[in-house]
Amino acid sequence: MAAHHLEIWKKCLEVIRDNTSEQSYATWFKPIVPVSLNGNVLTIQVPSQFFYEWLEEHYIDLLRKTIKRFLGPDGKLEYSIMMDSTDQTYRVVIPGSTSNNTKNLIGRPAPEALARNPINPFVIPGLKKLEIDSQLNENYTFDNFIEGDCNRVARQGGLSVAQKPGKTSFNPLIIYSGTGLGKTHLCHAIGLETKRLHPEKTVLYVQAEQFTNQYVTASKNKNLNDFVHFYQMIDVLIIDDIQFLAKKTLTQETFFHIFNYLHQNNKQLVITSDKFPSDLQDMEKRLMSRFVWGLTTDLQMPDVATRSAILKDKLYHNGIQLSNEIVEYLASNVRSNIRELEGVIISLVAQSSFNKKAITIDLAQQILDRYLRSANSDKEVSVEYIINIVCDYFSIPAEQLALKTRKHQVVQTRQIAMYLSKKYSNASLASIGKQCGNKDHATVHHACKTVSDRLDTDKQFRVMLADIERKISM
Ligand code: ADP
Ligand code: MG
Repeated sequence: MAAHHLEIWKKCLEVIRDNTSEQSYATWFKPIVPVSLNGNVLTIQVPSQFFYEWLEEHYIDLLRKTIKRFLGPDGKLEYSIMMDSTDQTYRVVIPGSTSNNTKNLIGRPAPEALARNPINPFVIPGLKKLEIDSQLNENYTFDNFIEGDCNRVARQGGLSVAQKPGKTSFNPLIIYSGTGLGKTHLCHAIGLETKRLHPEKTVLYVQAEQFTNQYVTASKNKNLNDFVHFYQMIDVLIIDDIQFLAKKTLTQETFFHIFNYLHQNNKQLVITSDKFPSDLQDMEKRLMSRFVWGLTTDLQMPDVATRSAILKDKLYHNGIQLSNEIVEYLASNVRSNIRELEGVIISLVAQSSFNKKAITIDLAQQILDRYLRSANSDKEVSVEYIINIVCDYFSIPAEQLALKTRKHQVVQTRQIAMYLSKKYSNASLASIGKQCGNKDHATVHHACKTVSDRLDTDKQFRVMLADIERKISM
């Protein structure tokens, strides 16, 4: 084969980039160094064992499909792993034809240095007082977190924690609920209130996914000590969506040590989860057993009165006026979660300003009908309808689908819109292509393939798509 390993890998990267988020691409694929191409075996070098395991767990199918695409059905990928802290390298051979990793460990010197060394965010200049960005969103306060029976314990627990961080029995404070019911909002409210009352305290809000990515970068750059020290200096640590750590054994272990250290030093921990902690699968028992030390409480779907109160507050803050009748109507008909309630208001306002129509109860009903179509979801849906939902979901104006851009978000939105149009509408590929940014039928075909391959290989992507499909069938 005449092709050069650098060229082949470059092509692979293009496909991978289309199929992963920017963040994952930067974390997991950019640092890979293509080493050689022997026949149909492409060797790539990864920075550590952990890195290799992560790729194997999350991206092996994507890698396999991509490799086969460019190297033919017998294409194989071989990893060369740079050992942590030594300069030894060993090889892991992954046959391109199975997803089971057959590991072949062969001692071998490192072919080339892994030069990339991103700036380490955790270097601490030996000072006690730490100036950090708390990553708090000023829009999510206690003032606009409306209290109801559904959230009273969590809200009050959060307030107590903010008043006396680390000094109540609510440590850790664990808040769990389904999606869109206010966990993230409450996290920010706790952080902001703590900072307001205790400006001297170091507060940090971090998503478990971000924590994981930082851990990985630190591990790759051999900065784990700095990473751990950084977290040990936080007074109030708020970790959102802890379920993301499931199965990530090494990250959990590090989090466990940070948790213990902070807890022993009377620092406050606030953790959210999408499930009751003991229902979280693949989490370390040791970590779970710590969670019962504090207060675990849930957020439920608010009742109609609370939903009305939330709606009125949001409308007021956005300078939108709706009659009581409409507010009541919306509050009693949207029963899934609060994010959806907000979604309905946004479409309502968008529609009314677009058509220059006043928001009447009729218009509200029409818009809501779209949301509540679940009862007869086998109805034919139009490509336009799907495009609107998908673009809405990714907050991209529909016109952008026609842009010639490699921006991941736009490419992904277009591909998903095409895939779902093929699945749910009766339109031809050509017609779908025309409506989704004036593309031809081959592009639609490629998009459908890309999306379905990714569905096979990426769990988070599956969850996201299910979320969008749910909106389409509503
Ligand atoms: P989760 O993190 O549980 O998925 P979010 O915190 O993102 O949910 O909440 C979804 C939306 O609902 C946010 O815009 C949030 O402001 C709003 N929300 C949730 N609960 C309340 C509440 N009690 N009062 C006002 N807004 C709320
Ligand atoms: Mg959230």
